[in-house]
Amino acid sequence: MEIADIKKSVLLIDGDIFFDQSIKNLNWFNIGGKTRIFFKPKSLKGLIEYLKLYALRGKIFILGNGSNVLFDDDTYQGTVIKLGKSFSNITLLDNNTIIAGTAASQKKVSEFAMNNNISGLEFMSCIPGSIGGGIRMNSGCFKKEFKDILISIQLVDFKGVVRSIPTNKINFNYRSIQLPKDLIFLSATFKGNKKNSEEINNYMNELNKVKNMAQPTKIKTSGSTFKNPINQTDKKVWELIRASVPKETSYGDAIISEKHANFFVNKKNAKAVDMKSLINFVKKKVKAQTGVKLELEIVVVE
Ligand SMILES: Cc1cc2nc3c(=O)[nH]c(=O)nc-3n(C[C@H](O)[C@H](O)[C@H](O)COP(=O)(O)OP(=O)(O)OC[C@H]3O[C@@H](n4cnc5c(N)ncnc54)[C@H](O)[C@@H]3O)c2cc1C
Repeated sequence: MEIADIKKSVLLIDGDIFFDQSIKNLNWFNIGGKTRIFFKPKSLKGLIEYLKLYALRGKIFILGNGSNVLFDDDTYQGTVIKLGKSFSNITLLDNNTIIAGTAASQKKVSEFAMNNNISGLEFMSCIPGSIGGGIRMNSGCFKKEFKDILISIQLVDFKGVVRSIPTNKINFNYRSIQLPKDLIFLSATFKGNKKNSEEINNYMNELNKVKNMAQPTKIKTSGSTFKNPINQTDKKVWELIRASVPKETSYGDAIISEKHANFFVNKKNAKAVDMKSLINFVKKKVKAQTGVKLELEIVVVE
């Protein structure tokens, strides 16, 4: 579908549509060019309207909080969809079950759980993403991940068909979920167990303290660049990188964090091409030095 056709239909759709929108400020790396179309649905109705109008004719990328993505320097030739406020409600279903919109931040959901004396979601307070990103990545830390607490996912496919899938029908892997890419997660149901909110709060503070000691904060990064190669070695990926690559390796403003070798950082004005060169260099060096083939954790959008 041509931009002119989309522009003609814009007024009919319940959402905001922008053309040639910069995406640099919409991701943690602070990297990327523009997107041909940027769509923020105001309601599920608006999202379905847009999908029915456009989806089968162009590519789509769903953006959460942008804390795990690397966009290209060139314009994304499709639509970036970002779910807004109307997809961020958090509600108590019964005394240990929560339903959360996927645009809600993981931190907010963990705090909601704490305030309702529900334990099991504490790890989410350490992850800067949205619920949608957490589901797609099966995010986790401190030996807990999304799959441990997810009960069901409500979603819409790119044709505009809404469904609910119980998670016992889904296979999860380390930092991935086996579901097709052409799905937009709308909300998710989580089950925890009852615990005193003060105990939950103490545990959350402890986790955040440990995390802040081990990983850099307040920098332009997408967190762990590569997955830990759990099927190839017991070593953590940061150890393999430290053993294979000089600390000061850089491409333009793309550098390796001093604090955590698997966190790559945009020092100031790095381009996607710089970050990709750093990624490829590290991958090659680790393979040559240790024999381990690294796999990206961050999602490269092209
Ligand atoms: C400082 C820092 C620390 C981090 N620590 C951790 C950690 O401890 N553990 C960990 O697992 N990760 C960590 N991450 C990575 C990242 O925060 C997680 O992967 C997070 O869950 C991604 O969420 P997001 O909303 O930012 O997703 P995005 O980066 O926006 O997107 C990631 C993927 O999810 C998809 N997606 C997003 N929303 C939806 C939706 N509604 N429907 C369908 N698909 C969707 C995107 O299309 C993309 O494929 C860290 C990142 C940073 C910057």
